[in-house]
Amino acid sequence: MALAYDMCSSRCCNICLLLEVEKQSKGASPSKEPMPQKLHKCSGCQLVMYCSQEHQRMDWQLHRGFCRAISQIMSNYQIKHPYLISGQPHDSYTMERAILQVKYLLRTLLGRKLEYHEEELTSFPAYCEICYHLERVQSCTRCHGVSYCSPQHAAQDSERHKARCGLLQLYYCPYKVQPQMSPDMLVEDLRTPVDDVLTMDLKQAFEHITSRKLPKVPTASMKNYQLFSCAGDFSCIGTICFTLRFTEMAEFKGNKFAIFILGATVEQDLWFRQIHTKWFFLQFKQITRLELYFIGPEVLGAARREITYNYMGADRTVLYTSYRMLFQEFTKETRLKPSLIAIFNCGFSEHAPSTVAEQKEQRERTGIPGDACATKDTWSHGILEMLQTYDLPILFTSLTRLEADFDYGAILRVAQADRLETRIKRLFDVKKNPYRDLRPLRNWQNQNDDDIFYRNGYVQAVISQIAK
Ligand SMILES: [Zn+2]
Ligand SMILES: [Zn+2]
Ligand SMILES: [Zn+2]
Ligand SMILES: [Zn+2]
Repeated sequence: MALAYDMCSSRCCNICLLLEVEKQSKGASPSKEPMPQKLHKCSGCQLVMYCSQEHQRMDWQLHRGFCRAISQIMSNYQIKHPYLISGQPHDSYTMERAILQVKYLLRTLLGRKLEYHEEELTSFPAYCEICYHLERVQSCTRCHGVSYCSPQHAAQDSERHKARCGLLQLYYCPYKVQPQMSPDMLVEDLRTPVDDVLTMDLKQAFEHITSRKLPKVPTASMKNYQLFSCAGDFSCIGTICFTLRFTEMAEFKGNKFAIFILGATVEQDLWFRQIHTKWFFLQFKQITRLELYFIGPEVLGAARREITYNYMGADRTVLYTSYRMLFQEFTKETRLKPSLIAIFNCGFSEHAPSTVAEQKEQRERTGIPGDACATKDTWSHGILEMLQTYDLPILFTSLTRLEADFDYGAILRVAQADRLETRIKRLFDVKKNPYRDLRPLRNWQNQNDDDIFYRNGYVQAVISQIAK
């Protein structure tokens, strides 16, 4: 069996988890038995758990590099657990500092960015949520996302944890790595437009347009999870419908609507399937041609296809076209003007502390030089190009609240440096996006920001104009 960490947790035997996922992907029903409770820690790194020596042996190939680097850190600092690096953590601040220190040392030792499972393991070590002790902790048996040293401390945290337990269950749900059923198979035609997208969120809108009820407990079965996940896939088109509510769509002349989707990834292919474009036509009946331009270095190849289907009493055509290049390269090639520019999960700023003061603050707080966390600026030219496409709405979404503010800041900085003196008008201020994805993600970065976040979590839109 080829092992890979699609799912990973510092509180479960990951081999058991992988075997369970593998079994279900072959169509077997989920085990009735809960995950094994008696687990032992890997003595090399103290950060992963196994149900048996056999499973520990099976994992060694994948685990070895990570484990050796962590033991190196422990022996350098002469500590028994990596998170004792600055002494026993005793509050969220010292815990977070220890996490950042370990991750920084690990990146340095490995000489590269951390992989998915390494981020996951080092960001969410098992410690008691109340007293921050690292030894002999038990995890919540429902979500396997938090731990406690004693039933007393579990009880003390129960009120606070109640709200998060369901989200963590979704995050660690083994069904999420299953091959997805196509949404066109899960929902029939869409018939009822949403009267006002501002009064609904993605769940309500999905139930309204599809006349299907979403399951109360999405993690209860594979079928439940797939329908829930399918509703989440309407996030991008929902965010577009939401944004257009702030424009004069009623006065939109013509029947062709073109959207540039910048920084598009493979993922976004899945969010603009036929069923999703149907929602667009359902909301805007006068449009019969929707042109989607996916532009970005991560887009899959150059491709162009056109699909026509009869819907709501008219032939509706969707043009899909991809440009594997940066936006500034694209604009050299073509002079097309879209009706809307959309950048989903834009990452204009990528959590980089942008000012010297912020870098200094981060250095003091974490002991890590600020510039070590800054990522390469790939967006400035693209943003400038985008802002010079005047007088049309530019919508962009961000994963977290902090990122949303930084992303807007990045746009303002580019606009200010622009000698054409572009003026930025906000179509609306940053909002928690009611059409954000439904599937939670956990924040590997830090606790000053949302610790659970969603794709398209925050939305804002601007229009750029030439200053008079
Ligand atoms: Zn196991
Ligand atoms: Zn280990
Ligand atoms: Zn405790
Ligand atoms: Zn829980």
